[in-house]
Amino acid sequence: MEIRVAKTAGFCYGVQRAVDMVEQALAEGKTHIYTYGPIVHNDFVVEGFRKQGVEVIKDFDMLRRMCEDGTLKKAVVVIRAHGVGAEVYRLLQDPELGITLIDATCPYVKKIHKIVREHDAAGEQIIVTGSAVHPEVVGILGQIGDRAIVIGSPQEAEALSLDKNHRYCLVSQTTFSSRKFEDIVAIFRKRQYNIGIINTICNATQMRQTEAAALSAECDAMIVIGGRNSSNTAKLRDICQSQCGKTYFIQSAEELDRDSNLNSVRCVGITAGASTPKSIIEEVLNYVRNEF
Ligand code: SF4
Repeated sequence: MEIRVAKTAGFCYGVQRAVDMVEQALAEGKTHIYTYGPIVHNDFVVEGFRKQGVEVIKDFDMLRRMCEDGTLKKAVVVIRAHGVGAEVYRLLQDPELGITLIDATCPYVKKIHKIVREHDAAGEQIIVTGSAVHPEVVGILGQIGDRAIVIGSPQEAEALSLDKNHRYCLVSQTTFSSRKFEDIVAIFRKRQYNIGIINTICNATQMRQTEAAALSAECDAMIVIGGRNSSNTAKLRDICQSQCGKTYFIQSAEELDRDSNLNSVRCVGITAGASTPKSIIEEVLNYVRNEF
């Protein structure tokens, strides 16, 4: 059996950087470390850090409570690659608490924060393509007091009626589908809205999606590795499924063991979402090599 592993599989630059920053804090002997949300959408990585004493602050309410009751006094808090809104910074930078803030917001996401702040300040209405509940989008909206319209699909763009006399600025969640973004842009252009379009979809995502599409078109089976709650991995699965009927979405090699049937397969492709560490990709690769 031929096994082909996507070159772009696994951690992107921003996620690797965030994980490295937590590891660095541990290596420096820091204690009382928290991440605001799981550092990556991967249970194995989060559990590995938990065993070393790194706890997760689940949501904003929990963060507020922990600030109010003093739990976070003199703690180390890591902001993950997704970034956060202004309100979270305000809480974490309270001088009374003396929190050491490690800001692992991906520089590409920081760039979107800057864009929306500037265009919002210039009086433009911000539109974000993405999911309104995704933490990255919540963080983008939180830069400008939630004054943004979020669009999740071309259908939603069709249903949206904008004022042609107003100036708009369109940006995107970094992991949004390029195809959907282009379709939404085409709808807005056709309607001749006064809209500045800034494509902020991350290259890492685009490259991973393009490679997954090419690989899944050439292979008899595809294995997509990633966390169940990772949106970029779910998109990879959809892309692979549309080209290759035998697509398996797994979190680890054990799941492949239970669900898959690769014995009759000539060529299998492997790709992985941005939150999948190299160690898990290698584990799956070795498993396929040895077992099928
Ligand atoms: S996908 Fe791109 S923008 Fe998002 S964390 Fe990774 S490198 Fe940064």
